[in-house]
Amino acid sequence: MEQKRPPIITILGHVDHGKTSLLDFIRKEAVAASEHGGITQAIGAYQIEVGDGGQVIGDSEDKKNNLKPTTNNLITFIDTPGHAAFEKMRSRGAKVADIAVLVVAIDDGLMPQTIEAIKHILAAKVAMIVAVNKIDLPGINKVAQMEKIKKQLSDREVLVEEYGGDVPIVEVSAKTGLGVDKLLEIIQLVAEVNEFKGDPSAPATGVVVESKLDKNKGPIATVIIQNGTLKKGEAVVIGGVIGKVRGLIDYLGKQLDSAGPSTPIEILGLEGVPDVGAELGKTTSTKEEKKAVVTSILDRLKKDDTSVLKVVIRADVAGSLEAIEDALEKFNEEAEHIKIIAATTGDLTENDVKLASSTGAIVVGFNVKVLNQILKIAETEGVLLRSYNIIYELIEEIDAVVEEMLKVGALEEIYGTAQIIAEFPYGKNEKIAGCKVLDGFITKGPKVKIIRGEEIIGETKIKSLKKVKDEVTRVEKSDECGMMFEPKIDFAAGDLIQSFRTI
Ligand code: GDP
Repeated sequence: MEQKRPPIITILGHVDHGKTSLLDFIRKEAVAASEHGGITQAIGAYQIEVGDGGQVIGDSEDKKNNLKPTTNNLITFIDTPGHAAFEKMRSRGAKVADIAVLVVAIDDGLMPQTIEAIKHILAAKVAMIVAVNKIDLPGINKVAQMEKIKKQLSDREVLVEEYGGDVPIVEVSAKTGLGVDKLLEIIQLVAEVNEFKGDPSAPATGVVVESKLDKNKGPIATVIIQNGTLKKGEAVVIGGVIGKVRGLIDYLGKQLDSAGPSTPIEILGLEGVPDVGAELGKTTSTKEEKKAVVTSILDRLKKDDTSVLKVVIRADVAGSLEAIEDALEKFNEEAEHIKIIAATTGDLTENDVKLASSTGAIVVGFNVKVLNQILKIAETEGVLLRSYNIIYELIEEIDAVVEEMLKVGALEEIYGTAQIIAEFPYGKNEKIAGCKVLDGFITKGPKVKIIRGEEIIGETKIKSLKKVKDEVTRVEKSDECGMMFEPKIDFAAGDLIQSFRTI
């Protein structure tokens, strides 16, 4: 069931206009108001609780003073100001923020990065609030500066109320805190109007806002859950990185068991460091596609008379290449199943396909460009080319191939199938199988399987193969023949005889 969820806020603007100060002020107020003692984790995002008047509510004192929120008034702030992160997230189609607060210093007005930020916000189609900062600065003609800023904004298609638009504009001071409660109140109003919703019972999706390799904790990523609930112990895939959630830590350093919509959470237990902007819980290919790939790889192995899957790998960076090689090596622990013919970084080239063609390998690309002309060459050369963006998916597919390879009969070549039509006693305790060839051909050399329904009764070899009265070496489709087996096997009319060879 969809429910209201806290709005996710990002703060953008020109350098030195006070983004960090504003985020710090709000965070400090929230922490100061709580019992926590003032130590926050820098995890790239945080959450606060506000009252109806925009006042920040803590865990203890404020609640004792009856400053309880009347509704579930949480606000999530992305704490990685800067365009790079926003741009990255936007370019991946992940609209992580619901509302962008554009910070403009009252003394400077719109500056180049303010204008850049406006472009991003408009392109991402997120709601916007303008916060004019540093209103505490002395010696400024506030009225005139405010007018100038509103005019500058309207020139950039950002229309505040006086210009006939609906973009709220608030005066604040990140230094003194003046107007910050008003800003928070407006954030709530905008959230109210937009009705941001999430379904806590859905599988978790979200976006990475910060990630790093920690000396002690290993790879960690801060994800803002956009929908669903992420639980401890769950298997996750984040932009090509797999893992099992070992720990969920909130911005106060508290261990949580689960995190619902709009919660910023640090995830421990990943096998690598996902990129900022990478999405949690997205896979790209369907089950049918995967099955088709497995089948075509197996067919190719049969054709090439091999039980070793050869691969030519291309990955975007050395890190992912290493991760793929390591993961593939694991398949060779008991027997050689996979042979890496080449492993390089960079975009896929014609040579990769040619190399694969001459060695009977498949081409595996990871996070690399695959040009149409390369695809065409692969098609003409009969080379299977797979491109992945998620290491987990790559491994899953290879795993499925190896699993199939290990199944009895997966790597067998079937020469022909015959059906036993009748049985004739021969000598004291032998039987002749009177057969008709249904498919292919049957010769004396290779082994045969006797199949009854779904079951394989056993394997044996043909010691005598007769067509009418003559001993022959080979019978073809539609031929009728008599067969005797050595070692003896207890066949019956109706059974199938399959002539095969193991690769
Ligand atoms: P950012 O680059 O946008 O993150 O800007 P910062 O938050 O680092 O602020 C840049 C400078 O402006 C710092 O020296 C801050 O102390 C100062 N500053 C930020 N907000 C205010 C404010 O409301 N009033 C005054 N007087 N100075 C501010």
